[in-house]
Amino acid sequence: MRSITTFHLQYAHRFYGFKGEAQYLHGHTGTMTIEVEDSINTGVNMVFPCNEIKKTAWSVLKNFDHALILRKDDPLLPAILDVYDKQGIKNGALQNTMIGTAFKTELAEAFPKCRLVVTKETMTVEGMIKLTYDLLKDKLNIAKITFVSGDNTASEEFEICDTVDRCPCCGIALDENGICPKCGYRKK
Ligand SMILES: [Zn+2]
Ligand SMILES: [Zn+2]
Repeated sequence: MRSITTFHLQYAHRFYGFKGEAQYLHGHTGTMTIEVEDSINTGVNMVFPCNEIKKTAWSVLKNFDHALILRKDDPLLPAILDVYDKQGIKNGALQNTMIGTAFKTELAEAFPKCRLVVTKETMTVEGMIKLTYDLLKDKLNIAKITFVSGDNTASEEFEICDTVDRCPCCGIALDENGICPKCGYRKK
């Protein structure tokens, strides 16, 4: 069975080099749905607590919210960084408090201090799904990701290989020693 969580992301981007309106900078509220699949954990009668999926996924997805997402070869990138630099907000601002965990992968690098994500490929809905799966695949048993943004929607299903050992009291994943990091339950 699956536990399903939905997120809303507000971001600005453009498709650099694309022949269409999307080559101009514009914004969206995107909706992402992450489906986590596993057996039913009989102790709590759920696959995985949705608020825990939310916490885990949001720590990285926060980087895309109220952020600018640009491809690394887009000439807007140095231009914008130059403006932020001159304005003194490139390395953070007092008002920038909803800061996600910075990451750097093959596909993207997040600069939460100036609310920017630099991507290898154009950030289409398909690109966002690839990126998200890559960032979260080791943390959650993701079976499917759907991303809706404007008139564009994409989804992809992923192979689930293992079942995760979860706490029978609060439902979250046990650590490598079989101990629940939340309530201290110890697997016998
Ligand atoms: Zn767009
Ligand atoms: Zn627990």
